Amino acid sequence: MDSNVFSSKEISFKDGILNGRVIIAGPCTIESYDQLKQTAQSVKNSGADILRGGAFKPRTSPFSFQGLKDEGLEMLKSVRKEVGIKVVTELMDVRDIEKIYDSCDIIQIGSRNMQNFTLLKEVGKLDKPIVLKRGISATIKEWIGAAEYIAVEGNMEVIFCERGIRTFSDCTRNTLDISAVPIVKKLTGMPVIVDPSHAAGRRDLIEPLSLAGLACGADGIMVEVHPQPDMALCDGDQSIDFNGFDELMKKIRRMGL
Ligand code: PEP
Ligand code: MN
Repeated sequence: MDSNVFSSKEISFKDGILNGRVIIAGPCTIESYDQLKQTAQSVKNSGADILRGGAFKPRTSPFSFQGLKDEGLEMLKSVRKEVGIKVVTELMDVRDIEKIYDSCDIIQIGSRNMQNFTLLKEVGKLDKPIVLKRGISATIKEWIGAAEYIAVEGNMEVIFCERGIRTFSDCTRNTLDISAVPIVKKLTGMPVIVDPSHAAGRRDLIEPLSLAGLACGADGIMVEVHPQPDMALCDGDQSIDFNGFDELMKKIRRMGL
């Protein structure tokens, strides 16, 4: 099951992305310019390397907030420049590639699109790193296969993101598959990050899962942070506030992770 696309090559990421461990933080969804800018400034001050924020959201219900779309991308572009921070945002549709490409430094392919092969092949032609989230019920083999769709088109800058898989465990939104971190690193030699927010679905588990992920060799974490998590339009239960993120960063540093 070794990956013959990745394993033989040393990949170096352009622009200093992923040279060392990377901390990605920000709101699930871009809600307003002020919300995004405040969050960007705060997480940057606390030590985040990259701001996250979705403009196009893959919601389970068509009646839920779908994101600010083009308007959100404009906010992302301004905040990226004004705060001076790299940004990642999700691409869901091949028709949005150009505008997403212009708005961010890293493109996210979400869990629900992990096996959208048309989308994977298109981002494989780009010269931007791709965060590839693990599908909700994808095996490791399927996940690596999805990454290979990107790589064979020429884009080797793939960052695997373990974000929890669906199991019978009923106290968390998903189950963080911690063993996936060393396994995927071993099979591909590529960076693997952990998203404790979507794994747990609960903000009280963000700290322990972040620490666990980093301790077992993850190259970074992606955490949802919101100025007022209880007011968030999406995923508030699994978001931490500015103070919580600052404490998390202190703990990560204290533990030498
Ligand atoms: C997200 O990052 O906001 C998201 C929707 O993630 P996932 O694809 O892991 O559910
Ligand atoms: Mn989310």
